[in-house]
Amino acid sequence: MSGSIRTHELLTCYHCGADGFDLYRQIEDLMFGVPGQWTLRRCPGCGLTWLKNQPIAEDVPRLYENYYTHEVVQLPDGALRRASKMGILKRDFGYSPKVPYSQLIAFFASRLGPLREMAARQIMWLHAHAGGKVLDLGCGAGANLYQLQQLGWQVSGTEPDPKAVLAAKKLLDTNEIFEGFLEDAAFAENSFDALISAHVLEHLPDPLATLKECYRVMKPGAQLCFATPNIDSLASQQFKEYWRGLEIPRHFFLFTEKSLREMAEKAGFRNIRILTPANVAWSVWQGSYLLQNQKSLPGGIANNTGILLKLRALVFWAWEFLKNHYGASCGEELVLLAEK
Ligand SMILES: [Zn+2]
Repeated sequence: MSGSIRTHELLTCYHCGADGFDLYRQIEDLMFGVPGQWTLRRCPGCGLTWLKNQPIAEDVPRLYENYYTHEVVQLPDGALRRASKMGILKRDFGYSPKVPYSQLIAFFASRLGPLREMAARQIMWLHAHAGGKVLDLGCGAGANLYQLQQLGWQVSGTEPDPKAVLAAKKLLDTNEIFEGFLEDAAFAENSFDALISAHVLEHLPDPLATLKECYRVMKPGAQLCFATPNIDSLASQQFKEYWRGLEIPRHFFLFTEKSLREMAEKAGFRNIRILTPANVAWSVWQGSYLLQNQKSLPGGIANNTGILLKLRALVFWAWEFLKNHYGASCGEELVLLAEK
């Protein structure tokens, strides 16, 4: 990759209009090698944090030349995680899955907080809806949709990466994956019973416009679930400009609980709830640690970190889970749950 990315400056808050301040200056892409030095700016009011030098639309594809969405594979679940999922599906989300475990194991596994969180994250907190249609915005290779398809949802997705589209079509055995952006898919109004999206909102140049389009294509009463990095997470506070969730320059906006809630309200959503689960704390801690100490994290994935780092990450995860559980809202992800 050569030549700099062309940018325009964004000085005031995209959400509330307040003048921002520079949070971190001149940071580099240590994961995918996009050239340039980048500054993140934060709003003193709502806390929204954004790339001050926003890439112009024509240069955005260059940010993804070595990116990986199409290579993401869903790891097989461990037995405990599966048991936990079976336990919550019926009790908390209204599904009637066949439980291939003793009810007792499922019962106990689903009461272990961190396992519960991981299980709920896999189904994006969606409650059962017989014959319901779900759309995954930026579905990647279809891993999240696959989980929901297994539970009886009719699945469809949008995804700009053509390789990921092929992978998702194959995994889900469907043609209902639109190659491109939601706004270009031109779905009819009131089409979906649920709309999910994992780690997409932060990549969008105009997230409010996309939230409004989500609202338009959802049926009245439909469920929304969006997951995005939490700029106020525990690892973000600890690692600062080396936090794995920053992922400059591909993340244009990083949300706080307040800015995400208010933006969802602006888009028209109701019954808004924000969770901050710690379920990715283990991997985010390891990625951030390597960014800070090796100044490099090729491909964005922490490989071969060794047993000691893994243990430290596990302790961090437990600590974050507990803090979060007792009200600190410091999990690595922000999860927006709402209804049309
Ligand atoms: Zn603001």
